Amino acid sequence: MATTGWLLAVVNQKGGVGKTTTAVNLAAELAAQGDEVLLVDADPQANATSGLGFSPTNLAHNLFEVLQDECSIEEAIIPSGRVHLHLIPASIDLAGIDLLFATRIARETVLRTLLTPLCEQYQWIIIDTPPSLGLLTINALVAANGLIVPLQCEYYALEGLSRLMQTIDLVRQHLNPSLEIWKVLLTMYDSRTKLGEQVEAEVRKFFGAKVARTVIPRNVRVGEAPSFGQPVVEYDPRSRGAVAYKAFAQEVKEYGASRSR
Ligand code: ADP
Ligand code: MG
Repeated sequence: MATTGWLLAVVNQKGGVGKTTTAVNLAAELAAQGDEVLLVDADPQANATSGLGFSPTNLAHNLFEVLQDECSIEEAIIPSGRVHLHLIPASIDLAGIDLLFATRIARETVLRTLLTPLCEQYQWIIIDTPPSLGLLTINALVAANGLIVPLQCEYYALEGLSRLMQTIDLVRQHLNPSLEIWKVLLTMYDSRTKLGEQVEAEVRKFFGAKVARTVIPRNVRVGEAPSFGQPVVEYDPRSRGAVAYKAFAQEVKEYGASRSR
């Protein structure tokens, strides 16, 4: 049976807010539940690639080569070593894309053109994006049906978000009318401080029902997992961080099921 999968991008131009952790764990959990998943690492830092246990410098092909027409997208897809989960790895060369694409025609739609046909094979395509609003992030916004926006539960959580919202609006107006924020996800929540509660209240007031019910706690196991090349849902499935990411994956699935296409 042909599936028409969802293409989700995990975005926030701030670094260190939990984008990669969210992309990797969402992908791993959806795959563990039996859905066919493709994780696309679109960040030159390649943290999603290493987070699944791959060394970005040792791989035959990667997203950069695909974008440069040096290999096909099919050639760049590698089995992750987990059932139902595939990966398109990143490499540091992606850092040069903004310059290399400066004069390329239709440069904002390259990723959409490449990934949309793959929605026939995968129920979920999840793109991890860099901490900037550069061309890679724009390409992810143009390709995506839905966005996951992780927000770190810290004092400046909402700072810079108006620029992200403006960018999303522009992409919606010009290139991707159906683009929608699926979930805003509160990450690294520290229940020992009042600050977490305050940030949560503020974010829920601002985004309303878009905010996921699940809040991801700050949890050492989440921070440890990448150094073992594993998502925390695999590294320590019973840890608080893993349990939260599993609940979040469930919310995302439910949201997908509630959407008509
Ligand atoms: P981004 O991709 O937005 O830059 P990351 O997902 O890489 O953010 O997270 C930044 C750092 O915080 C990483 O070292 C990651 O392991 C750690 N981290 C992310 N989420 C948690 C969490 N819930 N608890 C503890 N550490 C976390
Ligand atoms: Mg990252």
